[in-house]
Amino acid sequence: MGKLELRDLTKVFDGGGNGIVAVDELNVTIEDGDFLVLVGPSGCGKSTTLRCIAGLERATSGEIRLDGRNITDAKPKDRDMAMVFQNYALYPHMTVRKNIGYGLKITTDLSSDEIDERVESTAELLEISDLLNQKPKELSGGQQQRVALGRAIIREPEVFLMDEPLSNLDAKLRTQMRTEIQQLQQNMDVTTIYVTHDQTEAMTMGDKIAILNDGQLQQIGTPLVCYHKPDNQFVAGFIGSPSMNFLDVTRDGDRLLNDVFEYELSEETVSMLEGTTDQMTLGIRPEHIELTDGSEPNAIMTQVDVVEPMGEVTYAYIEIGDQIYTLSVDGETRIDAGDDIAVVFPEEKIHLFDDRSGAAIK
Ligand code: ATP
Repeated sequence: MGKLELRDLTKVFDGGGNGIVAVDELNVTIEDGDFLVLVGPSGCGKSTTLRCIAGLERATSGEIRLDGRNITDAKPKDRDMAMVFQNYALYPHMTVRKNIGYGLKITTDLSSDEIDERVESTAELLEISDLLNQKPKELSGGQQQRVALGRAIIREPEVFLMDEPLSNLDAKLRTQMRTEIQQLQQNMDVTTIYVTHDQTEAMTMGDKIAILNDGQLQQIGTPLVCYHKPDNQFVAGFIGSPSMNFLDVTRDGDRLLNDVFEYELSEETVSMLEGTTDQMTLGIRPEHIELTDGSEPNAIMTQVDVVEPMGEVTYAYIEIGDQIYTLSVDGETRIDAGDDIAVVFPEEKIHLFDDRSGAAIK
């Protein structure tokens, strides 16, 4: 079992007398066997949250519960968790065999033969059996990463904690290891919290993702819910690549207006917007902007600034007013820099956010 609960978890660092609130009343429940990705920009408090869960940092207030047991102040070794770090943290003077087996040696009464047996089956699982007698410095980054995973797996913990474990690997290896970690987690069915600043990792790996900003939880949900129904403008801008386009608009009756833009809303949307603020930010994802012949009521005439063919898709940068917006079209679509085009934002794909609070309205 490994149900983990964070209740109002708060961590304030002294910061030379200027209390830095790294984690701010975080409430998250991770069900047994779930894979949760903690994601957010640099400095948002991801690592501190993970370190509090591991017991490497003492929470300032709040509670951490594992299967209902309050472990907020328990020693790291009494938490039944294993952590994988970004820099792998392998012992340089030990062989791979000793690195993987070391945790069992110091925390269990297993005989050296029994430890050896478990090291060998773990190495087999990770396909590193042929590296057991090598030292970390003789291994590639990807191989070191596998050893670090092996060291975590062999302990059969209730919870895996992973802090940006793939960020030192090149793009191709990262993609491969992403899949391997997911498969491993599914096979072992161990509750996992995975920290990353990379939204692609978050989208592809997590059963659920928790998005943090300034130490505060912005949204927790499945990747697709966070993508399609962001709770606020921060989540909308953070999840999705390239990012969602935003423009400030004012609602006047059934129209959204700004200096260069006029958008007529359906009756249904107008009635949905009754009682909400008139000052809003409109959001539209690059892949949801459509090319049109210009005859539609809400079409916007514009010019293509720059084109980036990526193969399967092409990104085109268009200017609306004095802002540049990204448009993503199928790679087969003929589109060139300098082209005069008309685009339309389909109403069902438009997001609207409260201009001040950033909260999602539509
Ligand atoms: P990154 O992706 O860059 O690693 P992060 O989201 O993991 O960032 P944290 O490392 O948790 O963020 O840091 C959160 C905030 O707490 C930052 O403002 C950071 O400067 C501050 N912080 C972290 N550790 C300490 C510390 N030991 N003493 C003082 N401030 C700290």
